[in-house]
Amino acid sequence: MVSRATKIVATLGPASNSPEMLEAILRAGVNVVRLNFSHGTAQDHKDRAHLVREISKQVGREVAIMADLQGPKIRVGKFENGKIELVNGRPFVLDAGREALGDETAVGLDYKELPRDVKPGDTLLLNDGLIVLEVSAVKGGQVHTIVKIGGELSNNKGINKQGGGLSAPALTAKDMEDIKTAMELQADYVAVSFPKSATDMELARQLCHVAGAQYGHKPGLIAKIERAEAIPELEAILRASDGIMVARGDLAVEVGNAAVPALQKRMIRLAHQHDKVVITATQMMESMILNPVPTRAEVSDVANAVLDGTDAVMLSAETAAGKYPLETVREMASICLAAEAAHDPELHLDTANKTFRRIDQSIAMGALFTAHYCGAKAIVALTDSGSTALWMSRFNIPVPIYAITSRVSAQRRMAMFRNVRPLLMDTSADRDTALSDAEAHLKARAIVQSGDIYAITCGEPMGSPGGTNMLKMCRVA
Ligand code: PGA
Ligand code: MN
Repeated sequence: MVSRATKIVATLGPASNSPEMLEAILRAGVNVVRLNFSHGTAQDHKDRAHLVREISKQVGREVAIMADLQGPKIRVGKFENGKIELVNGRPFVLDAGREALGDETAVGLDYKELPRDVKPGDTLLLNDGLIVLEVSAVKGGQVHTIVKIGGELSNNKGINKQGGGLSAPALTAKDMEDIKTAMELQADYVAVSFPKSATDMELARQLCHVAGAQYGHKPGLIAKIERAEAIPELEAILRASDGIMVARGDLAVEVGNAAVPALQKRMIRLAHQHDKVVITATQMMESMILNPVPTRAEVSDVANAVLDGTDAVMLSAETAAGKYPLETVREMASICLAAEAAHDPELHLDTANKTFRRIDQSIAMGALFTAHYCGAKAIVALTDSGSTALWMSRFNIPVPIYAITSRVSAQRRMAMFRNVRPLLMDTSADRDTALSDAEAHLKARAIVQSGDIYAITCGEPMGSPGGTNMLKMCRVA
């Protein structure tokens, strides 16, 4: 049985909202759906989440839902004619006090603090870096600039400052409302846009816990790394989060395109060292928004993210608004599979020299090594919360990890973990029954057959979280 280790996150939108398309992309291998809270109403998101749960039941595979908060909108206002043409060398004013619609000389600002955040000589990048302005003076609420690279500028385009330094807080009033919606629909992950520090993530977590309490729900928190200031804070942000997103869209604008590939590799490595998940995002299959096949460069990009060890690769407009959502998912899945097959992952010896003070974590590591030594077909973790499976999956090994849980929330959460295949099973029985049920489950799904060796971990007494304390090597009768 060929199964993919790398997970696929697909953003829903007009191109993928219909039950038919949603079913098709889930069957094609989507593991996590992303609800983009920059668009749509609370009701839209609830309806979509409901549909996702319904269809994943039909498809027979649970997927995780990730609610992606909009974050601070650092944007220009609107123009008289919807858009203008900026000409190189001409002056242009960003005016926080302007009530009137914009024209060729000036435009209002959604983000009123901009004049306080910039000084002469700063470079501002608009519309994902397509337009470049250099600040010449700040006069009260007006930022005077000279157009360095002009072009068309339309309503509400985003503003980034090169090198970072915009003071907008990560969580806006809208985000706080959206967190309530996300908890009501029991989003498995909440992605926070533009966090600058661990404090932003801690605040988001508190808000999620308060809003989620009435549903008994606690999501995993993903920090989108897309601000220059977040880079020096990476380790602290990781400690405060359950995972990160290499949010290459905004990140590239802030730190410069050329810095992003090395940062991607570093973020993936650091996330795994901290036992966190990592999603590689933005423009992975960009040309498939319009074309039925990807470019060679996109194929390499996805494959290289897999070789870097990312847990998941993400699709944005490709599945939300593109012409070929299904083809894109299929293509991405096959690139991941081929990259995984070409890669011969090894357990690094430095892992063997590490010490783990927790019993459950040590058992997880022991299972990895023992399975590796005896050529096991599978590693099976009976896990309540999913943390045993998370630890195992931080090391890139070719043996698939089957995580058996009795909690559907854990099953969904684990849909993001690289190389983990989450299964739902009642594990409330005594140990021997649970172990033989697990084997029957694996045999019924043709994961193992007679003669195969597998490693299985569990905790005694059964069903207490964090209680994994046993490893058993089994040969299928
Ligand atoms: P966005 O985040 O798509 O919400 O902007 C991802 C990125 O910036 O890469
Ligand atoms: Mn972004």
